[in-house]
Amino acid sequence: MKFKIVKDTSLSLRSKSKPVTFPISEKDEKLLLKMLEYLKNSQNPAFREKHKDVREGVGLAAPQVGVNKRMLVIYFKSEEEKEVVHALVNPSIIENSLQKTYLLSGEGCLSVDDFHEGYVPRDYKIVVKAYDVIKKEDVMIKASGYEAIILQHEIDHLNGILYYDRINKSNPFLKIANAVEIG
Ligand SMILES: [Zn+2]
Repeated sequence: MKFKIVKDTSLSLRSKSKPVTFPISEKDEKLLLKMLEYLKNSQNPAFREKHKDVREGVGLAAPQVGVNKRMLVIYFKSEEEKEVVHALVNPSIIENSLQKTYLLSGEGCLSVDDFHEGYVPRDYKIVVKAYDVIKKEDVMIKASGYEAIILQHEIDHLNGILYYDRINKSNPFLKIANAVEIG
């Protein structure tokens, strides 16, 4: 199965994705695992050297490969070198903190080539309910900080929202009161 990352000019990135029905089809499961493999490869410098069009990423949602289904993958190594892996179907945020957070460097996206500077406000702590294709069970993910930011970025994709939609247009670097800044 070959797929291509679509850019933010694509309609699939501006459409609301449909829930996945259970049991999950083999095709959907394969796509999700393929997306995860893509992320892992994208973090390998030798792979990027060979595939010049591949950019490093930590999250990918199905609409980014042109499939409007509520599925996403996340892969990164935490500061303690702990692997964080999610391959989620029908994720939903069921709890969120009032406290906000944002990346001081701003956010990026594999589907966005242009540079959009500014802070992207996110909820600092969230609880996400989903079905995890790797664990093969329903999961409740309690995430905060960086992991919570990535989850919110990817879930936004399922609703046709891009990170730069959330940047304050008149003052992109407006400080948010009591927010946790992540450097
Ligand atoms: Zn993105």
